Amino acid sequence: PRLANQIAAGEVVERPASVVKELVENAIDAGSTRIEVELEAGGARLIRVRDDGSGIAEDDLPLALSRHATSKIASLEDLEGVASLGFRGEALASISSVSRLELIANVDEDPCHGWRVVAEGRQMEPRVTPAPHPRGTSVTVRDLFFNTPARRKFLRTEKTEYGHVEEAFRRLALSRFDIAWVLRHNQKTVHQLPAGNDAPRRERRIAALLGRSFLDSALHLDLEVGSLRLWGWVGLPTHSRAQADQQYFFVNGRVVRDRLVAHAIRQAYRDVLFHGRHPVFVLYLEVDPLVVDVNVHPTKHEVRFRDGRMVHDFLFSSLHRALAEARPGERET
Ligand code: ADP
Ligand code: MG
Repeated sequence: PRLANQIAAGEVVERPASVVKELVENAIDAGSTRIEVELEAGGARLIRVRDDGSGIAEDDLPLALSRHATSKIASLEDLEGVASLGFRGEALASISSVSRLELIANVDEDPCHGWRVVAEGRQMEPRVTPAPHPRGTSVTVRDLFFNTPARRKFLRTEKTEYGHVEEAFRRLALSRFDIAWVLRHNQKTVHQLPAGNDAPRRERRIAALLGRSFLDSALHLDLEVGSLRLWGWVGLPTHSRAQADQQYFFVNGRVVRDRLVAHAIRQAYRDVLFHGRHPVFVLYLEVDPLVVDVNVHPTKHEVRFRDGRMVHDFLFSSLHRALAEARPGERET
């Protein structure tokens, strides 16, 4: 029961963006090197996530759609040390219960060896049929909430839903430079981001996702103290009109919204720069996985550091130093 509680079922399907997030996290967990996201009508009509990861074996295909079937944990000990993004084993089940879902996967290098299973609402077609597919998985979600009109009614305009998807995509693509990404909406390619961890390709991705003007005015930093490393880009005052939500913080590659982290960053900005500006940043904190607990919250946006004080001080002093050096004359008095 403790395990069941800790895997407390959360509402995973709220809108197209949450479907994209779950499907992409599965693709990341499957070790993909290339992930394509395709949408129609902001995702309300169609969402397709295609990856080149491990694929799913024929026998496991129906299982993947059933509730609490996860291949990712076997025990509480596993749960505590879980390294994968998804671990509740309910995303595909939940999504398939409110859409027309098709899952095609292949574990084989031979592109003729794929298998397909479909589900419509709670109805899963019992048959797994052959379907050619390169190694990897494609999940297609059509007509989200077709059988739950009340929830369908809560979907906003195509533009708004698409905006949420793009934001989710941005976070995911910023979290993994080593994965190539494609985002398509209504047959148009919106983002095509080649994989690569070298500085030029990282910068090209930042510019593509956050805008040239952010990159050109941002300060790049990379600081290491003991087992802690902080790197990324922080916006300087010239970029002051940027939106408040352009704040991206990753801990060991995962998006994190954390009060301690937010506080340290806010303090550093406030100390060095003019007041009333929204800090804009893309920052990556790398810490020993043993000193951070990433799965505290089911939505996984929160972390718990063993030594929060130390992390806070490191963030504050790193940012403070970097910002002060970049803007020595602009300190507010
Ligand atoms: P969870 O990710 O929490 O395990 P999901 O419902 O998201 O649960 O997925 C169920 C299972 O289906 C996963 O544990 C995994 O074994 C398999 N799966 C889903 N998507 C993929 C994918 N893109 N590639 C490989 N396996 C997948
Ligand atoms: Mg999952």
